[in-house]
Amino acid sequence: MHQPVVLITGASRGIGAATALLAGARGYAVCVNYVNNKAAADAVVDAIIIGGGKAIAVAADVAVESDVISLFETVDAKLGPLTALVNNAGILEKQMQLAQMDVARLQRIFTTNIIGSFICAREAVKRMSTNSGGSGGAIVNVSSVAARIGGAGEYVDYAASKGAIDTMTIGLAKEVIDQGIRVNAVRPGVIYTDIHASGGEAGRVVKDSIPMRRGGRADEVAQAILWLLSDQASYSTGTFIDVAGGR
Ligand code: NAP
Repeated sequence: MHQPVVLITGASRGIGAATALLAGARGYAVCVNYVNNKAAADAVVDAIIIGGGKAIAVAADVAVESDVISLFETVDAKLGPLTALVNNAGILEKQMQLAQMDVARLQRIFTTNIIGSFICAREAVKRMSTNSGGSGGAIVNVSSVAARIGGAGEYVDYAASKGAIDTMTIGLAKEVIDQGIRVNAVRPGVIYTDIHASGGEAGRVVKDSIPMRRGGRADEVAQAILWLLSDQASYSTGTFIDVAGGR
């Protein structure tokens, strides 16, 4: 049997990096995608290789279609047939009310978080679909509890982008199940990563609003992602795991 191959977008830091490390340890050949931070991506690749795994780092902006196409072509050439995609890359901007948001910001958020996930899913389906000679596979989208809560006063744009990801998860799951592909999502709560600095609140983990009274760790989210990718989740598609401490 071929080694399973996973492409994880935004895997140089945070939840994506934790997912890459766990996937490497579980026997996947891993493509660690990043946009700017080559040193961080290389460190994730080195850690996987030191652990006896196989990994490559590939720069690509998921918001740019030509970048995404060459990212997938690099995986084809260097790792072999893709069996799993984690649509993890996502951005957040400074906290503000919707009434203050300009169109440039909305375009950045929606292009990266929604269109980026859509075109990565498209490229993955083309390769995995049994209709086009693939052997099936699994996609996990990284949404957010913000999709349920709405992000009021902070980032309704970001929350709405994750709402779109939830809807895509449900629709695409039904569309490709006959092609051997499962599509699911995780919805993290507040996880200790760098993303909160972009929101203007680097120390964000509002314990009072979290029933479990703590923030989550990236590796706790990675566990849910790896389960959804695995054959243990063989009867799950179009569904969600909230990793949010009860929030
Ligand atoms: P993070 O620590 O800020 O890391 C972001 C990662 O995405 C980095 O690897 C970054 O690459 C990459 N990236 C950013 N824009 C990209 C682009 N246009 N193309 C390709 N890669 C890009 O983020 P995180 O907190 O781990 O978040 C990961 C996902 O979880 C996001 O979708 C986020 O919305 C979601 N999430 C996070 C939380 C949380 O509390 N942290 C909660 C709910 C959902 P570089 O290193 O090259 O910059």
